[in-house]
Amino acid sequence: MLVRFRRRHILETIRKYHKGDSNEQSSLKHQYDLVCIGGGSGGLAAAKRAHLELQSRDIQPKIAIVDYREHPNIVNTSPDRPEINWRWGLGGTCTNVGCIPKKIMHTAALYGEYVQNASEFGWKVPSTVEHDWESLVENVQNHIRSIHFGYRSDMMLNKIEHINARAKFLDKHTIEVTDAKGNVKTITSRRFIIAVGCMPKYPDIEGAKEYAITSDELFALIKPPNKTLVVGASYIALESAGYLSGLNQKVTVMMRSIPLRGFDQDCAQKIVEFMKERGTTFKQGCVPTKIRKNKNSFVVEYVDDKNSVHVEEYDTVLFAVGRKCVADELGLQQLGVKFDNDKIDVNEFEQTSVPHIYAVGDCINRGLELTPTAIHAGSLLSRRIYSEELVTKNHKHIMDYTNVPTTVFTPLEYGSCGMSEEDTIKKYGQDNIEVYLIGFTPLEHEFTHKDTNKTYMKVICVGSEEKIIGFHYLGPNAGEITQGVAVAIRLGVTKHDLDSTVGIHPTVAEEMTRLNITRRSGLVAEKRGC
Ligand code: FAD
Ligand code: NDP
Repeated sequence: MLVRFRRRHILETIRKYHKGDSNEQSSLKHQYDLVCIGGGSGGLAAAKRAHLELQSRDIQPKIAIVDYREHPNIVNTSPDRPEINWRWGLGGTCTNVGCIPKKIMHTAALYGEYVQNASEFGWKVPSTVEHDWESLVENVQNHIRSIHFGYRSDMMLNKIEHINARAKFLDKHTIEVTDAKGNVKTITSRRFIIAVGCMPKYPDIEGAKEYAITSDELFALIKPPNKTLVVGASYIALESAGYLSGLNQKVTVMMRSIPLRGFDQDCAQKIVEFMKERGTTFKQGCVPTKIRKNKNSFVVEYVDDKNSVHVEEYDTVLFAVGRKCVADELGLQQLGVKFDNDKIDVNEFEQTSVPHIYAVGDCINRGLELTPTAIHAGSLLSRRIYSEELVTKNHKHIMDYTNVPTTVFTPLEYGSCGMSEEDTIKKYGQDNIEVYLIGFTPLEHEFTHKDTNKTYMKVICVGSEEKIIGFHYLGPNAGEITQGVAVAIRLGVTKHDLDSTVGIHPTVAEEMTRLNITRRSGLVAEKRGC
């Protein structure tokens, strides 16, 4: 009796909170309470949180995840390209072709460096160490399969149905799902959360789709890419070029403008310099115009910034020129869901213009294309929809996309949180900010006499209280260090707080507690001695 009363009460309060869908038919009329379209970072997080919230109130919800992927390049169906991942398992981009395989490849490259340096630490290692690409790829793919298995069991345990099929809306509460064999069925749901993500883009030039690959294929290449052209200069391009160089491949980056657009350019340039020193070639101000095949290699025609045409041959051409949202294939426009370019237009509650259809992750117009933001937004969204506690206390728990920390896993790793130096100058004016910086050599590098003063830290402060609004770090373990700083920035940390914090010795992170050289002083920002 009490349980029934509680259940009715919860449904009532949830209905009141989501005024937008109070007039919609009750969930009893639909097969599911919630269907998440997309089983990547955002969809999985939203489904799991919805399940948790409802089950903690003795409600056994009917939740499904519809996930399906087909390779974006339908031109390249040639059987001599077995590396193409036509389908993938649960986990979306991050698990299958993103963060996970990328971080393993990056780590593999770092291990190569450790081995080279090991003799300085007394290890007897042969003077040349070879890398076996095939076994790395096999281990990466096995690891990905183990993650699929984990997700599938998790879904089964939580009684979240996994439907491996492509979804398309028929009306506001009905989708049609089509599986790999072409079987079609319709599904109705009270609510939908869309988290369909993005796919790599190809430039519109001759030969691009026929002969080039994207990061979607890189982690499954059955042979090493050898002499590789990476086109693009943002996260994916520089990370890929970095670990491929570290894995002994000969890499050229073709950059049409600046590296890492949107990031602190002082730091971005230092990454490029570091990569050049490590053997990566950069062709600046150049764009490819045509690719053709020549036996087993590819001839790339490209123009430079003076419009001169050049030709060069590569074994692999990798495009990392951005990603395109795939939400336009869902038939949402006919339901009245608004779009902002190719992304779904959502309000601060991740609600589309159709109130019971929500969207999170890479496919929305107000986010960041990062796994943790998709996870956090998906989880908060389900809490807002289904948590009685949040509903009754009227907490909104809105996703905050400011000060999200991130790390670019280039050979010189780059962690950042908050604003770049150029953006702070634009917003506050040069006279109202203070930039503290230091270049230094971690103990481990001093010991091996490598990468002297390449590790770099920059803290940007504003106002008389010197509130920290930007943190930038180039060096080892950038993600680990930046994550901690992000908490402090959220809490409004000031330079004085950093100065009064005791460091941990000997670490690189302790440098943030004794920054005293300012950009304004004009002094050389390099540390000497211990
Ligand atoms: P996705 O994870 O892309 O999931 C969407 C899912 O929906 C996919 O499985 C897709 O196939 C499926 N789908 C699409 N259309 C349909 C349909 N019609 N029906 C059914 N299913 C459909 N982020 C980080 O934070 N750190 C990193 O280090 C990092 N590295 C990256 C490296 C690379 C090479 C790439 C490409 C990305 C990287 N990212 C990283 C970004 C991160 O992977 C994405 O931001 C994140 O995966 C987005 O999650 P999502 O849930 O929005 O979409
Ligand atoms: P971006 O959109 O960030 O960058 C695209 C790059 O390609 C830019 O350098 C751009 O140059 C260049 N470009 C675009 N079109 C062309 C063209 N026709 N010819 C030559 N160059 C071109 O895309 P990414 O694919 O690198 O990354 C997508 C997102 O994935 C990122 O924003 C990030 O959020 C996420 N990600 C996160 C990672 C992490 O957290 N470590 C790692 C990898 C990805 P220009 O600047 O001139 O426009």
